[in-house]
Amino acid sequence: MDCLFCKISEGSIPSQKVFENERLLAFKDIQPAAPVHILIIPKKHIASMNDVQEEDLSLIAEMHRVAQDIAKDMGIFESGYRLINNCGPDSGQAVHHLHYHVLGGAKLGALTG
Ligand code: 5GP
Ligand code: ZN
Repeated sequence: MDCLFCKISEGSIPSQKVFENERLLAFKDIQPAAPVHILIIPKKHIASMNDVQEEDLSLIAEMHRVAQDIAKDMGIFESGYRLINNCGPDSGQAVHHLHYHVLGGAKLGALTG
């Protein structure tokens, strides 16, 4: 499958990994939008939040748990951070493999919409 994040997950495209287990991978965003900008992905290809199935719910819960750990590791657990998922055209989702952005390390701008 021609999917950028599947390739990163398999290791055929390099990334700066910050966390990995059998199910999930977290790595630094190539174009950081904040001092801390990490992407958390499932190794399983799920195209977007709209494609999450009942059987994937434990994976989603684990992504939230890993976000906490990453926030701790990056020193932003107390100062605060944002966990963002873009889903579909109006959100600007550019990579069609489910991912959460973990953003922090500075006062973040207001959400727009
Ligand atoms: P989206 O807009 O789909 O929610 O976010 C995709 C994110 O992936 C963007 O923040 C973009 O900078 C990041 N990205 C795109 N290509 C690469 C890449 O090759 N490596 C890494 N580490 N991040 C990427
Ligand atoms: Zn994929």
